[in-house]
Amino acid sequence: MFCLGIESTAHTFGASLVDGNGSVLSDVRKSYKSAGKGIVPREVAAWHSENAGAIIEEAMVDGAEMVAFAQGPGIGNCLQVGSDAAHSLAEKLGVPLVGVNHCVAHLEIGRLFSKARDPVFLYVSGGNTQVVAFEAGKYRVFGETLDIGVGNLLDKFARFLGLGFPGGPALYELSKRGKYLPLAYSVKGMDVCYSGLFTQAKQAIEKGAAKEDVAYSLQETAFSMLVEVSERAMAHCGKNELLLGGGVAASPLLQEKCRVMCEARDAKFLPIEPKYAVDNAVMIAWQGLLERKKANREKWDIRPYWRTDEVAVDWR
Ligand code: AMP
Ligand code: MG
Repeated sequence: MFCLGIESTAHTFGASLVDGNGSVLSDVRKSYKSAGKGIVPREVAAWHSENAGAIIEEAMVDGAEMVAFAQGPGIGNCLQVGSDAAHSLAEKLGVPLVGVNHCVAHLEIGRLFSKARDPVFLYVSGGNTQVVAFEAGKYRVFGETLDIGVGNLLDKFARFLGLGFPGGPALYELSKRGKYLPLAYSVKGMDVCYSGLFTQAKQAIEKGAAKEDVAYSLQETAFSMLVEVSERAMAHCGKNELLLGGGVAASPLLQEKCRVMCEARDAKFLPIEPKYAVDNAVMIAWQGLLERKKANREKWDIRPYWRTDEVAVDWR
Protein backbone atom coordinates (compact mmCIF):
# COMPACT_ATOMS: atom_id res chain seq x y z
CA MET A 1 0.00 0.00 0.00
CA PHE A 2 1.32 3.45 -0.91
CA CYS A 3 0.11 6.56 0.90
CA LEU A 4 0.65 10.18 -0.09
CA GLY A 5 0.80 12.31 3.07
CA ILE A 6 0.30 16.06 3.27
CA GLU A 7 1.51 18.24 6.15
CA SER A 8 0.51 21.89 6.60
CA THR A 9 -0.16 22.50 10.31
CA ALA A 10 2.17 25.49 10.70
CA HIS A 11 5.26 26.75 8.88
CA THR A 12 6.05 23.64 6.82
CA PHE A 13 4.23 22.42 3.73
CA GLY A 14 5.23 18.89 2.85
CA ALA A 15 4.14 15.99 0.70
CA SER A 16 5.53 12.47 0.87
CA LEU A 17 4.89 9.04 -0.53
CA VAL A 18 5.51 6.17 1.89
CA ASP A 19 4.81 2.45 1.58
CA GLY A 20 3.43 0.01 4.10
CA ASN A 21 6.91 -1.04 5.26
CA GLY A 22 7.85 2.54 6.08
CA SER A 23 10.03 3.04 3.01
CA VAL A 24 10.10 6.69 2.00
CA LEU A 25 9.67 7.04 -1.77
CA SER A 26 9.49 10.82 -1.80
CA ASP A 27 9.75 13.57 0.78
CA VAL A 28 9.32 17.10 -0.47
CA ARG A 29 9.05 19.97 1.98
CA LYS A 30 9.44 23.68 2.23
CA SER A 31 9.30 25.88 5.32
CA TYR A 32 8.06 29.42 5.57
CA LYS A 33 10.72 31.75 6.92
CA SER A 34 10.50 35.33 8.03
CA ALA A 35 13.16 37.72 9.22
CA GLY A 36 12.33 39.45 12.48
CA LYS A 37 8.64 38.68 12.77
CA GLY A 38 7.02 35.40 13.68
CA ILE A 39 4.28 33.53 11.90
CA VAL A 40 1.31 35.56 10.70
CA PRO A 41 -1.39 32.92 10.02
CA ARG A 42 -2.83 34.60 6.95
CA GLU A 43 0.59 35.11 5.39
CA VAL A 44 1.79 31.56 6.00
CA ALA A 45 -1.46 30.16 4.63
CA ALA A 46 -1.06 32.27 1.48
CA TRP A 47 2.49 31.00 1.19
CA HIS A 48 1.25 27.39 1.56
CA SER A 49 -1.32 27.99 -1.18
CA GLU A 50 1.38 29.24 -3.52
CA ASN A 51 3.64 26.25 -2.88
CA ALA A 52 1.22 23.37 -2.38
CA GLY A 53 0.71 22.45 -6.04
CA ALA A 54 4.39 22.17 -6.97
CA ILE A 55 5.32 20.32 -3.76
CA ILE A 56 2.58 17.72 -4.21
CA GLU A 57 3.42 17.27 -7.87
CA GLU A 58 7.08 16.66 -7.05
CA ALA A 59 6.19 14.12 -4.34
CA MET A 60 3.69 12.26 -6.52
CA VAL A 61 5.91 9.50 -7.74
CA ASP A 62 3.58 6.87 -9.17
CA GLY A 63 1.26 4.71 -7.20
CA ALA A 64 -0.53 6.59 -4.39
CA GLU A 65 -3.37 4.32 -3.31
CA MET A 66 -4.58 6.59 -0.54
CA VAL A 67 -4.09 10.14 0.71
CA ALA A 68 -3.54 11.24 4.32
CA PHE A 69 -3.41 14.78 5.65
CA ALA A 70 -2.77 16.47 8.98
CA GLN A 71 -6.27 17.26 10.21
CA GLY A 72 -5.02 19.00 13.37
CA PRO A 73 -3.94 20.40 15.70
CA GLY A 74 -2.50 23.48 14.08
CA ILE A 75 -3.15 26.92 12.66
CA GLY A 76 -6.63 26.90 11.10
CA ASN A 77 -5.73 28.81 7.93
CA CYS A 78 -2.75 26.53 7.29
CA LEU A 79 -4.64 23.31 8.00
CA GLN A 80 -7.32 24.36 5.53
CA VAL A 81 -4.82 24.65 2.68
CA GLY A 82 -3.56 21.11 3.32
CA SER A 83 -7.08 19.80 3.69
CA ASP A 84 -8.25 21.35 0.42
CA ALA A 85 -5.20 20.00 -1.40
CA ALA A 86 -5.72 16.51 0.08
CA HIS A 87 -9.42 16.40 -0.79
CA SER A 88 -8.88 17.47 -4.36
CA LEU A 89 -5.97 15.07 -4.83
CA ALA A 90 -7.98 12.11 -3.46
CA GLU A 91 -10.84 13.12 -5.75
CA LYS A 92 -8.55 13.37 -8.77
CA LEU A 93 -6.90 10.00 -8.09
CA GLY A 94 -10.16 8.34 -7.02
CA VAL A 95 -8.57 7.02 -3.82
CA PRO A 96 -9.65 7.12 -0.15
CA LEU A 97 -8.61 9.86 2.25
CA VAL A 98 -7.86 9.91 5.96
CA GLY A 99 -7.24 12.81 8.35
CA VAL A 100 -4.65 12.14 11.04
CA ASN A 101 -3.45 13.80 14.23
CA HIS A 102 -0.18 15.66 13.75
CA CYS A 103 1.12 15.04 17.31
CA VAL A 104 0.44 11.33 17.19
CA ALA A 105 2.11 11.20 13.77
CA HIS A 106 5.26 12.72 15.33
CA LEU A 107 5.24 9.98 17.92
CA GLU A 108 4.58 7.10 15.52
CA ILE A 109 7.29 8.08 13.03
CA GLY A 110 9.64 8.22 16.01
CA ARG A 111 8.61 4.71 17.05
CA LEU A 112 9.09 3.44 13.51
CA PHE A 113 12.57 4.83 12.93
CA SER A 114 14.00 4.61 16.45
CA LYS A 115 12.57 1.13 17.07
CA ALA A 116 11.26 2.35 20.42
CA ARG A 117 8.74 -0.17 21.70
CA ASP A 118 6.75 1.68 24.30
CA PRO A 119 8.36 5.03 25.07
CA VAL A 120 7.45 8.11 27.00
CA PHE A 121 7.40 10.75 24.28
CA LEU A 122 8.66 14.25 24.97
CA TYR A 123 7.21 16.31 22.16
CA VAL A 124 8.74 19.75 21.95
CA SER A 125 7.81 21.97 19.06
CA GLY A 126 6.77 25.53 18.33
CA GLY A 127 3.14 25.25 19.33
CA ASN A 128 3.12 21.98 21.24
CA THR A 129 4.87 20.79 24.37
CA GLN A 130 3.64 17.51 25.81
CA VAL A 131 4.82 14.44 27.67
CA VAL A 132 2.83 11.55 26.25
CA ALA A 133 2.67 7.81 26.85
CA PHE A 134 0.47 4.93 25.75
CA GLU A 135 -1.51 3.74 28.77
CA ALA A 136 -4.76 1.77 28.97
CA GLY A 137 -5.61 1.95 25.28
CA LYS A 138 -4.71 5.47 24.31
CA TYR A 139 -2.05 8.13 24.15
CA ARG A 140 -2.37 10.04 27.39
CA VAL A 141 -0.88 13.41 28.12
CA PHE A 142 0.98 13.16 31.40
CA GLY A 143 2.25 16.72 31.36
CA GLU A 144 2.06 19.69 29.07
CA THR A 145 2.54 23.41 28.84
CA LEU A 146 -0.18 25.48 30.44
CA ASP A 147 0.56 28.42 28.18
CA ILE A 148 3.02 28.56 25.26
CA GLY A 149 5.06 25.79 23.63
CA VAL A 150 8.76 25.63 24.45
CA GLY A 151 9.69 26.37 20.82
CA ASN A 152 7.43 29.39 20.92
CA LEU A 153 9.24 30.52 24.07
CA LEU A 154 12.59 30.30 22.25
CA ASP A 155 11.18 32.02 19.16
CA LYS A 156 9.56 34.85 21.15
CA PHE A 157 12.72 35.52 23.10
CA ALA A 158 14.86 35.35 19.95
CA ARG A 159 12.50 37.77 18.24
CA PHE A 160 12.81 40.09 21.23
CA LEU A 161 16.58 40.00 20.73
CA GLY A 162 16.10 40.66 17.01
CA LEU A 163 17.35 37.22 15.97
CA GLY A 164 14.52 36.28 13.58
CA PHE A 165 12.67 32.99 13.10
CA PRO A 166 13.28 30.18 13.93
CA GLY A 167 14.88 31.30 17.16
CA GLY A 168 16.03 28.00 18.65
CA PRO A 169 19.31 27.54 16.75
CA ALA A 170 20.30 31.23 17.06
CA LEU A 171 19.69 31.20 20.82
CA TYR A 172 21.74 28.06 21.17
CA GLU A 173 24.70 29.64 19.36
CA LEU A 174 24.42 32.73 21.55
CA SER A 175 24.17 30.71 24.76
CA LYS A 176 27.46 28.89 24.16
CA ARG A 177 29.20 31.86 25.73
CA GLY A 178 26.64 32.34 28.52
CA LYS A 179 26.63 31.59 32.22
CA TYR A 180 23.77 30.69 34.52
CA LEU A 181 21.45 33.25 36.11
CA PRO A 182 18.52 31.96 38.18
CA LEU A 183 15.16 32.35 36.40
CA ALA A 184 11.59 31.26 37.25
CA TYR A 185 11.43 27.46 37.21
CA SER A 186 7.75 26.62 37.10
CA VAL A 187 6.58 23.05 37.15
CA LYS A 188 3.02 22.77 38.45
CA GLY A 189 2.25 19.16 39.21
CA MET A 190 3.14 17.56 35.89
CA ASP A 191 2.67 20.69 33.81
CA VAL A 192 5.02 23.51 32.86
CA CYS A 193 4.47 27.26 32.31
CA TYR A 194 6.66 29.47 30.19
CA SER A 195 5.13 32.91 29.92
CA GLY A 196 6.46 34.06 33.32
CA LEU A 197 9.91 32.85 32.34
CA PHE A 198 9.67 34.79 29.08
CA THR A 199 8.68 38.01 30.88
CA GLN A 200 11.46 37.57 33.40
CA ALA A 201 14.05 36.96 30.70
CA LYS A 202 12.93 40.10 28.85
CA GLN A 203 13.13 42.12 32.07
CA ALA A 204 16.61 40.79 32.78
CA ILE A 205 17.76 42.10 29.38
CA GLU A 206 16.04 45.45 29.97
CA LYS A 207 17.91 45.72 33.28
CA GLY A 208 21.20 45.17 31.48
CA ALA A 209 21.98 41.45 31.85
CA ALA A 210 24.15 39.99 29.09
CA LYS A 211 22.19 38.46 26.19
CA GLU A 212 24.40 35.36 26.26
CA ASP A 213 23.69 34.73 29.94
CA VAL A 214 19.94 35.16 29.63
CA ALA A 215 19.81 33.01 26.47
CA TYR A 216 21.69 30.24 28.25
CA SER A 217 19.66 30.47 31.46
CA LEU A 218 16.34 30.57 29.63
CA GLN A 219 17.14 27.30 27.85
CA GLU A 220 18.67 25.73 30.94
CA THR A 221 15.54 26.49 32.96
CA ALA A 222 12.95 25.64 30.30
CA PHE A 223 14.61 22.33 29.41
CA SER A 224 15.22 21.24 33.02
CA MET A 225 11.49 21.60 33.64
CA LEU A 226 10.75 19.25 30.75
CA VAL A 227 13.28 16.68 31.85
CA GLU A 228 11.84 16.66 35.37
CA VAL A 229 8.32 16.00 34.10
CA SER A 230 9.49 13.38 31.59
CA GLU A 231 11.40 11.52 34.27
CA ARG A 232 8.39 11.48 36.55
CA ALA A 233 6.20 10.15 33.72
CA MET A 234 8.73 7.39 33.05
CA ALA A 235 8.79 6.44 36.73
CA HIS A 236 5.01 6.54 37.03
CA CYS A 237 4.37 4.46 33.91
CA GLY A 238 7.30 2.12 34.50
CA LYS A 239 8.66 2.82 30.99
CA ASN A 240 12.34 2.74 30.16
CA GLU A 241 12.54 4.58 26.85
CA LEU A 242 12.40 8.30 26.23
CA LEU A 243 11.59 9.36 22.68
CA LEU A 244 12.35 13.00 21.89
CA GLY A 245 10.66 14.70 18.94
CA GLY A 246 9.45 18.03 17.56
CA GLY A 247 11.63 20.85 16.22
CA VAL A 248 13.23 21.62 19.59
CA ALA A 249 14.48 18.01 19.77
CA ALA A 250 17.39 19.24 17.63
CA SER A 251 18.70 21.25 20.58
CA PRO A 252 22.04 19.81 21.74
CA LEU A 253 21.37 21.27 25.18
CA LEU A 254 18.02 19.52 25.57
CA GLN A 255 19.42 16.27 24.18
CA GLU A 256 22.27 16.33 26.66
CA LYS A 257 19.90 16.82 29.59
CA CYS A 258 17.65 13.98 28.45
CA ARG A 259 20.65 11.71 27.93
CA VAL A 260 21.98 12.35 31.43
CA MET A 261 18.57 11.68 32.98
CA CYS A 262 18.09 8.45 31.00
CA GLU A 263 21.57 7.18 31.85
CA ALA A 264 20.90 7.74 35.53
CA ARG A 265 17.75 5.58 35.32
CA ASP A 266 19.20 2.96 33.01
CA ALA A 267 16.71 3.93 30.34
CA LYS A 268 17.18 4.31 26.60
CA PHE A 269 17.30 7.82 25.19
CA LEU A 270 16.00 7.89 21.62
CA PRO A 271 16.15 11.28 19.93
CA ILE A 272 14.35 11.24 16.59
CA GLU A 273 16.78 12.20 13.84
CA PRO A 274 16.33 15.94 13.09
CA LYS A 275 14.95 15.37 9.59
CA TYR A 276 11.98 13.44 10.98
CA ALA A 277 11.74 15.23 14.34
CA VAL A 278 10.60 18.45 12.67
CA ASP A 279 7.28 18.84 10.86
CA ASN A 280 7.26 16.62 7.79
CA ALA A 281 4.83 14.75 5.57
CA VAL A 282 6.55 11.36 5.90
CA MET A 283 5.03 11.01 9.35
CA ILE A 284 1.59 11.98 8.03
CA ALA A 285 1.79 9.35 5.29
CA TRP A 286 2.94 6.72 7.79
CA GLN A 287 0.16 7.63 10.21
CA GLY A 288 -2.30 7.37 7.33
CA LEU A 289 -1.03 3.86 6.62
CA LEU A 290 -1.47 2.89 10.28
CA GLU A 291 -5.05 4.18 10.09
CA ARG A 292 -5.81 3.06 6.54
CA LYS A 293 -8.98 1.25 7.65
CA LYS A 294 -10.55 4.63 8.42
CA ALA A 295 -9.84 6.05 4.96
CA ASN A 296 -12.92 6.84 2.88
CA ARG A 297 -14.32 9.24 0.28
CA GLU A 298 -16.12 11.48 2.77
CA LYS A 299 -15.27 15.05 3.70
CA TRP A 300 -12.84 15.43 6.62
CA ASP A 301 -13.13 18.71 8.53
CA ILE A 302 -10.00 20.28 9.98
CA ARG A 303 -9.55 20.06 13.76
CA PRO A 304 -7.29 22.96 14.91
CA TYR A 305 -7.61 22.03 18.61
CA TRP A 306 -7.54 18.23 18.32
CA ARG A 307 -5.79 16.83 21.37
CA THR A 308 -3.45 13.86 21.45
CA ASP A 309 -5.59 12.17 24.11
CA GLU A 310 -8.75 12.43 21.99
CA VAL A 311 -7.35 10.20 19.25
CA ALA A 312 -8.92 6.75 19.00
CA VAL A 313 -5.85 4.49 18.89
CA ASP A 314 -6.85 1.26 17.15
CA TRP A 315 -3.53 0.35 15.51
CA ARG A 316 -1.59 -0.84 18.54
P1 AMP B 1 8.25 22.38 14.87
O1 AMP B 1 7.09 23.25 15.27
O2 AMP B 1 8.17 21.02 15.46
O3 AMP B 1 8.60 22.36 13.43
O4 AMP B 1 9.52 23.05 15.57
C1 AMP B 1 9.86 24.37 15.36
C2 AMP B 1 10.56 24.89 16.60
O5 AMP B 1 11.82 24.22 16.79
C3 AMP B 1 10.87 26.36 16.53
O6 AMP B 1 10.36 26.94 17.71
C4 AMP B 1 12.39 26.42 16.47
O7 AMP B 1 12.91 27.56 17.12
C5 AMP B 1 12.78 25.17 17.20
N1 AMP B 1 14.11 24.67 16.83
C6 AMP B 1 14.55 24.30 15.61
N2 AMP B 1 15.85 23.92 15.66
C7 AMP B 1 16.24 24.05 16.94
C8 AMP B 1 17.47 23.85 17.64
N3 AMP B 1 18.56 23.42 17.02
N4 AMP B 1 17.48 24.10 18.97
C9 AMP B 1 16.36 24.54 19.60
N5 AMP B 1 15.20 24.77 18.99
C10 AMP B 1 15.13 24.53 17.69
MG1 MG C 1 5.00 19.53 14.81
